[in-house]
Amino acid sequence: MSKSGNTVDVAIVGAGPAGLTAGYLLTKAGYSVAILERDARYVGGISRTVEHEGFRFDIGGHRFFSRSKEVVDLWNEILPNDFIERPRMSRIYYEGKFYSYPLRAFEALGNLGLIRSTLCMASFAKARLWPKRQVRSFEDWTVNAFGRKLYSIFFKTYTEKVWGMPCDRMSADWAAQRIKGLSLWGAVVDGLKRSLGLHRRPNDGVGQAKTLLENFRYPRLGPGMMWEAARDRVVERGGQVLMGHSLHQLRLSEATGRWTVTATGAVGLVSLNAAHVISSAPMRELASRIHPLPAALPEASNLKYRDFLTVALMIRSPDLFPDNWIYIHDPKVKVGRIQNFRSWSPEMVPDPAIACVGLEYFCFEGDGLWTSSDAQLVALATAEMATLGLCDPAQVTGGVVVRQEKAYPVYDEDYAQNVDMLRRELEGRYPTLHCVGRNGMHRYNNQDHAMMTAMLTVRNIQAGARVYDVWAVNEDAEYHESGNEGEAAALASLRAVPKPLKAA
Ligand SMILES: Cc1cc2nc3c(=O)[nH]c(=O)nc-3n(C[C@H](O)[C@H](O)[C@H](O)COP(=O)(O)OP(=O)(O)OC[C@H]3O[C@@H](n4cnc5c(N)ncnc54)[C@H](O)[C@@H]3O)c2cc1C
Repeated sequence: MSKSGNTVDVAIVGAGPAGLTAGYLLTKAGYSVAILERDARYVGGISRTVEHEGFRFDIGGHRFFSRSKEVVDLWNEILPNDFIERPRMSRIYYEGKFYSYPLRAFEALGNLGLIRSTLCMASFAKARLWPKRQVRSFEDWTVNAFGRKLYSIFFKTYTEKVWGMPCDRMSADWAAQRIKGLSLWGAVVDGLKRSLGLHRRPNDGVGQAKTLLENFRYPRLGPGMMWEAARDRVVERGGQVLMGHSLHQLRLSEATGRWTVTATGAVGLVSLNAAHVISSAPMRELASRIHPLPAALPEASNLKYRDFLTVALMIRSPDLFPDNWIYIHDPKVKVGRIQNFRSWSPEMVPDPAIACVGLEYFCFEGDGLWTSSDAQLVALATAEMATLGLCDPAQVTGGVVVRQEKAYPVYDEDYAQNVDMLRRELEGRYPTLHCVGRNGMHRYNNQDHAMMTAMLTVRNIQAGARVYDVWAVNEDAEYHESGNEGEAAALASLRAVPKPLKAA
């Protein structure tokens, strides 16, 4: 294994969960690595923790949960002493009232008041009696299931905020997947039985209570703590982590079979010579950096993303709500979700007299929200908190904006084919180039799945062949060691994200 200077065994693009997992395991196994990270300050990618004047924020709030024992063991190995167990609580906020999440029929109807609940029930009855026969869109499906009135209060606004497209343009199968098992009639009957004491099924209520208030694990200083610890281990073992370096070009020498990887940093171009390259950079970007350019560049260029920004506000007040986050269904405001960082970990907020909330806006890079100045966004967030009746703007003592481009890979009608074209070409031509992670594979992956793809890639590098199919890792992925040889086995389901309808 190579150890000298800019010649390394493996060059890794990106110091997010996928890149750092690969770096951690490779250096543990004695390989030399160099990790290129575009961000000048933070490791962790979308799972980083941003720090501002002692306040710490996540990009969205990151729970640590995995069905894979191997991932959990690795988390414990990297961060043996700093996990805390936190209660999870999240509710819906609509017109000044909190609603359980998932919805409880009686509570929802009670909160809405007599007139509106009657209208909701009437529109539900209408939808049951005269359902739309041809169910094409998310809107069709949800109106049929709940009635137009409840759909417009509890489904339309939030879904459109998150995905940036109208609900009548999203496919119905996403709704069926997403909202399956939730029926208004079932919830009403359930509620009646509960209030009459006729509820006999032993596990009923437990499931709901679990969703509403369950515990999750969290590093006491946020997810960034995990990835900073992983970086420290990589560096202790002689690995390089080049912060503020963006991938410029990848070129494979046919003569040597090795990669020349160049990156631009503050002091100019850096060049690495590597036997393998692991990339967690967005596939669209990777394709444009390979020399010669891949034939599937046009397909890769068509991959799309949804972006995201958080405005963290410091407010002189007790915590505004006990939840980790609340969903904002009010159409009067643009904010989609509000995080309460102290509920994630008391250590995220250094001053007990100050509450710290993160207002999350889903947007597209370059749109009006994204291009607003930080001062405008802090003013917008402050005004929206006042509109929602959640805080007195005079008590806001500070604010900071964190932008996250490419937070969500978009699954449009062509994405699977586009990913497949690029993947096949790269795998066919370059056995030593490995795509991992969320945007690196254009997958709606959580940390654990991003890590799993890196773990399997490390095994492939150790084996000298693609023994494991990293593309088989997905939302519900579990892989089992069977017999004496590890074998990747993954469940077939994809994480539920909406697909737009083809134009009718
Ligand atoms: C709102 C939100 C909430 C989430 N909540 C959870 C949760 O509760 N639990 C959970 O497990 N997961 C959660 N996730 C998912 C989690 O953030 C991702 O799965 C994880 O960060 C993916 O890791 P990654 O390494 O594949 O990619 P990333 O985190 O995107 O890291 C990629 C890294 O590569 C760098 N990079 C990109 N291009 C280049 C380049 N050209 N040159 C150099 N560096 C480059 C980036 O700067 C980044 O640091 C959430 C995501 C979002 C958006």
